[in-house]
Amino acid sequence: VSAEHSPIGASGMHRWSRCPGAVRLCEGLPEAKSAYAEEGTRAHELAARQLSGQPALAAVEDADLLEAVSVYTRWVGAERQGGELHIEVRFDLGAVHPGLFGTADCVIWRPDDKRLIVADYKHGAGVPVEVENNPQLRYYALGALLNLRYPAATVAMVVIQPRCPHPDGAIRVEVVDVVDLLDFASELKAFAVATETPDAPLVPGEHCRWCPAAAVCPALADRTQALAKIEFAPALSYDPVALARALDARAVVRAWLEALDQFAYAEAEAGRCPPGYKLVEKRATRKWINETTALEALHPFFATRDMMFEPRALLSPARMEKVMPKSARPVLDGLVTKESAGHALVPDTDKRPAVRRSAVEDFRAPNTDGTGGTDG
Ligand code: SF4
Repeated sequence: VSAEHSPIGASGMHRWSRCPGAVRLCEGLPEAKSAYAEEGTRAHELAARQLSGQPALAAVEDADLLEAVSVYTRWVGAERQGGELHIEVRFDLGAVHPGLFGTADCVIWRPDDKRLIVADYKHGAGVPVEVENNPQLRYYALGALLNLRYPAATVAMVVIQPRCPHPDGAIRVEVVDVVDLLDFASELKAFAVATETPDAPLVPGEHCRWCPAAAVCPALADRTQALAKIEFAPALSYDPVALARALDARAVVRAWLEALDQFAYAEAEAGRCPPGYKLVEKRATRKWINETTALEALHPFFATRDMMFEPRALLSPARMEKVMPKSARPVLDGLVTKESAGHALVPDTDKRPAVRRSAVEDFRAPNTDGTGGTDG
């Protein structure tokens, strides 16, 4: 098996390190396709071309994508000063264990302080990626270190995830001693070996979301069906720990439902519609064939041309802040107010501080805040 076709590449490590049995179950199945993954690929390609001074292959009109990519490219532009830049660094860690390989988005060598910087751009907006002790980042960093062979003393691993809010900001860094990173090689090997045992376990979790085997995975189906049997309602007495476990499992259930939808749709498109279902046309949206021609043909019917355009809207404070000069940002203070959008229930590993509720509210509404009502 060539490295590129190996199932234990760095990009899939979030799955196979947590569910070693996934490698066996996914054998021969095509990678799951999704609009999110395609957008992520487009963002990576655009960033790589910009950073290597090549023009984009096609005009990109997606303002959100351009803005997110520019956060990454601006950061690289600042960090590369006085250093050596490598974009899309393909590496092979077959010396650690056969089949280990990957491509690091961006590597910068800074000879002044003997630091290797390995950056990973994440376009996803749904799940924040933590930088500390992240095995996937260490995999990329180890790959870059052993393949580029710079005499590094420290390695900085950097996550750049502009579209997903995080209390530490869009760019998060962990610096480790090169010796600690080399130690990680044995951990990486252990992860890889675990996937090769014939009874490697199937372990459902949030990582099932894009698993090619999700629609046919018995462990995921079992976990989802067990959850569907539990009932929670205000009138029923319940175990707060069981409620917390059910909340933990929401991502697993969503993954299963998404996989089920995609699998059933693919079957229907292949002529095997499930009984009681049919494929129909989606509603077509009308588009101008040519905007200039339409404008010229239609303006005689309007008093002014402005009536033919969408009204201009002021940028949101967040977007305004991004496009205005840094020095002028304090002006925003007197112009912006914050309106609470309510509370979100999140795991206590989330870095945001917990909402402080008053003792009176806790007295009135015991056990309805999802914490078991004991530590309000
Ligand atoms: S669906 Fe989840 S549990 Fe099943 S193989 Fe994939 S990652 Fe593992």
